[in-house]
Amino acid sequence: MKIHEYQGKEILRRFGVPVPRGIACFSVDEAVDAARKLGGPVWVVKAQIHAGGRGKGGGVKVSRSIEEVRANAAAILGMRLVTHQTGPGGQIVRRLLIEEGADIRKELYVGLVVDRVSQRVCLMASSEGGIDIEDVAARMPEKIHKLMVDPVAGLSGAEADEVALGIGVPQAALVSARAALQGLYRAFWECDASLAEVNPLVLTGDGRVVALDAKINFDSNALYRHPDIAELRDLDEEDPAEIEASKFDLSYIQLDGNIGCLVNGAGLAMATMDTIKLYGGNPANFLDVGGGATAEKVTEAFKLMLRNAQLKAILVNIFGGIMKCDTIAEGVVAASRAVQLGVPLVVRMKGTNEMLGKQKLAESGLPIIAADTMAEAAQKVVAAAGQANRG
Ligand code: ADP
Ligand code: MG
Repeated sequence: MKIHEYQGKEILRRFGVPVPRGIACFSVDEAVDAARKLGGPVWVVKAQIHAGGRGKGGGVKVSRSIEEVRANAAAILGMRLVTHQTGPGGQIVRRLLIEEGADIRKELYVGLVVDRVSQRVCLMASSEGGIDIEDVAARMPEKIHKLMVDPVAGLSGAEADEVALGIGVPQAALVSARAALQGLYRAFWECDASLAEVNPLVLTGDGRVVALDAKINFDSNALYRHPDIAELRDLDEEDPAEIEASKFDLSYIQLDGNIGCLVNGAGLAMATMDTIKLYGGNPANFLDVGGGATAEKVTEAFKLMLRNAQLKAILVNIFGGIMKCDTIAEGVVAASRAVQLGVPLVVRMKGTNEMLGKQKLAESGLPIIAADTMAEAAQKVVAAAGQANRG
């Protein structure tokens, strides 16, 4: 789950990470009041959306008077902000953060992610903050310092200092940098985050270290331990189809292709998408209906896929284990009828009661294209989508 920058900063503040004073707002009047409350001489008006790259997209504006705050807030609030992370459709800005302007001497980068190989939290830090860190990683990988943190000991003061010195924090600011790095690590650890990124972490003119941006993602499977964090969820920022899917306990992720995939099991779903790609097609979604897919769940899954105007064909790929093939076949038939399916449907099923399942599909009278292997299923659905494209 993602949260907004101002919410992330609130969490970081609790863990002792220095952040600028700021107030979240939902209207221009609130923004002006917030600026008055904070006091000048410089404010920054910041669009709050669940995507980075806001600065480049025109969603972060330095303002040197209350009137400028008003003008910038009016321009940003309600705008469709397009950044490299939002996709071409952009995201409507509904919230702002009005923040005191920092006196930036140098922009640094720090980020935390879970490293699957070492099974530890990896602290990444760089002297090249502010700009796209992906670019730094690609062009100057030596500029990114990495440290795998011991899960028992946590991030020690000595380690924090070493990282800070490595990215050019001067001796005088070391204590402040240590508090920032250790606080960031503790926030990540204690809140069950999956990613925490401060870009930029800045050195100010008066020698302090301050987090000017905050991006924190949380492991959704651990949210039950953090009701206060779960409350920060902003449905306006999420894909409506994915919200609908979560109501039915379906794992659904919208993609940009045109072949819908309905699969049981995440691994099989990934393999199905790969196979579609291998034969030149493009998946419209990832969809795992889980082990206990009922006819109702399958119907909801079909409805979800059909919301997508790009959809040209559907591939159902089921391994009948706990869930028997004939039950799934019943679900597929019922769902196709319920939604009056208008796109070609390819079904491949293997496992328990396979024959019975295939018989049920054949007897339904629906124009279902049967396939036996994954390769055959993928080829058939790619061909069907191609024909639909021309037609
Ligand atoms: P994004 O990463 O989405 O572009 P940031 O919060 O990193 O948004 O802001 C972009 C840039 O704007 C920062 O790199 C920094 O230079 C500047 N900036 C952001 N907040 C402040 C602030 N409070 N004071 C001064 N400059 C800021
Ligand atoms: Mg940033």
